[in-house]
Amino acid sequence: MKIMVSACLAGENCKYNGGNNRNEKILQLMKENEVITVCPEQMGSLPTPRVPSEIRNGVVTARDGRIVDDEFRAGAAKCLEIARREQPDLIVLQSRSPSCGVKQRYDGTFTGTLVDGAGVTAQLLMENGFRCIDVEDFSGIHEGVKI
Ligand code: SF4
Repeated sequence: MKIMVSACLAGENCKYNGGNNRNEKILQLMKENEVITVCPEQMGSLPTPRVPSEIRNGVVTARDGRIVDDEFRAGAAKCLEIARREQPDLIVLQSRSPSCGVKQRYDGTFTGTLVDGAGVTAQLLMENGFRCIDVEDFSGIHEGVKI
């Protein structure tokens, strides 16, 4: 299978704080499948480390008040371009991220409050027909994938 994943899950230090979300299931997946890694926030020209952002009233806003919506959407568009070219069978993304979250994201108040709804990249990919799943819901290819 060909699978696209959030780069931070593969151990790349692309997270806002300069760290990663290294995930053993994803590392295992990489041994047995063709895996494409993407970090939409870096692809949208944001630096690492960077100020964390959340989606507030539909607009991606950094904790310091700067509007970073254009950068987030530029990164999402680049991910979509890659997905269209590579045609992954499945896309596994970091849960709750304002870019990569599939089912939930933070509400824009920076208080740790979750709301239903996807991050901008996950949303764009799903709107274009790609199968996306939160890493927290991913049980591995051999155990079957439920979306
Ligand atoms: S944008 Fe996605 S891939 Fe990049 S650090 Fe955030 S969750 Fe990970």
